[in-house]
Amino acid sequence: MLLDCAVIGGGPAGLNAALVLGRSRRKTVLFDDNKPRNAVTQESHGFITRDGIDPQEFKRIGQEELSKYPDVSIERQRVQRITKVDGQFSVEAEGGEVFQAKKVILATGFKEALPDIPRVHEFYGKSLFGCPFCDGWELKDRPLAIIAEDQKAVHMAKLVSNWSEGLIIFTNGHQVISSAEKALLASKGIVVNEKKITSLIGKEGQLEKIQLEDQTEVLRKGGFVASEWKQAATFEYDLGYQLNEQGGIETDRMQRTKTPGVFACGDTRISGASQLIMAASEGSMAAIAVNAELVEEKFSEKPGQQNKKG
Ligand SMILES: Cc1cc2nc3c(=O)[nH]c(=O)nc-3n(C[C@H](O)[C@H](O)[C@H](O)COP(=O)(O)OP(=O)(O)OC[C@H]3O[C@@H](n4cnc5c(N)ncnc54)[C@H](O)[C@@H]3O)c2cc1C
Repeated sequence: MLLDCAVIGGGPAGLNAALVLGRSRRKTVLFDDNKPRNAVTQESHGFITRDGIDPQEFKRIGQEELSKYPDVSIERQRVQRITKVDGQFSVEAEGGEVFQAKKVILATGFKEALPDIPRVHEFYGKSLFGCPFCDGWELKDRPLAIIAEDQKAVHMAKLVSNWSEGLIIFTNGHQVISSAEKALLASKGIVVNEKKITSLIGKEGQLEKIQLEDQTEVLRKGGFVASEWKQAATFEYDLGYQLNEQGGIETDRMQRTKTPGVFACGDTRISGASQLIMAASEGSMAAIAVNAELVEEKFSEKPGQQNKKG
């Protein structure tokens, strides 16, 4: 069967895209191998009506809602390859099955690389986070660490200072903050520590201390850490779209990439702020744009041309 759309990635972006496509009676398959970026955390915040929800529960509800729409099905497997031939897409799943689709929505998200600090993964998603809008409220008024090895340190510290005044920036041995910036930060009570971190210390994911190269330990009750971002899936070579300087897939306001028929939404665009609600909203927009193109194509067919639904 020729699908109207293949949605790759079943996080909030892909789920919402599939929801809007299903409600628009578009034959859709949603592919998801369930390795979302927020798998490390137990609570997601900031999505109205879903504040504090377990991310897996969010996904379960999303999939349950999709089951109401007979034109949508879910393939719980990874897509290995997408190729475009004669204006249509072949989507090859890891099980070997190949699906044909008129349009593709990429909602594959991104992956984070945390700084190379012993035990950092034990605390990430439990008491160390990446985004204060997501988890700042839960850490408010605590003595916090800002761990960042580049200029993001200053930006992050300024932002987080609204949730806690007890901030120390740890640059893990990197000299990335100028004297003028240090003076400005000091005037607001923010300390900069440039020693190398030898370990993070704490129990059950709760950060208690940061151990430094000179064996001193600094008390901290959680914090924020800056990570590097890269695409969770790489289809750019086959589909011919290009990544922007930040490594995100570039789109217009309708989520169209530069490759006709390919749309991208959610974290995969690496556009700065990233949240569930933003990803879901972009998914909805991508679906509306897919639908608009399918409608245009239907009404531009000459009389007598074959016309499947859409
Ligand atoms: C520690 C942490 C805490 C966070 N807390 C919050 C919070 O409190 N509130 C908030 O709003 N946001 C939070 N976020 C951010 C939030 O997780 C992301 O913004 C959101 O998940 C982006 O949704 P997405 O659908 O774009 O991508 P994702 O949720 O990452 O989903 C992408 C999906 O695509 C799948 N996929 C990728 N490649 C393929 C492929 N080739 N084939 C099939 N499937 C594929 C992945 O397995 C995954 O399931 C947090 C992030 C982290 C890391």
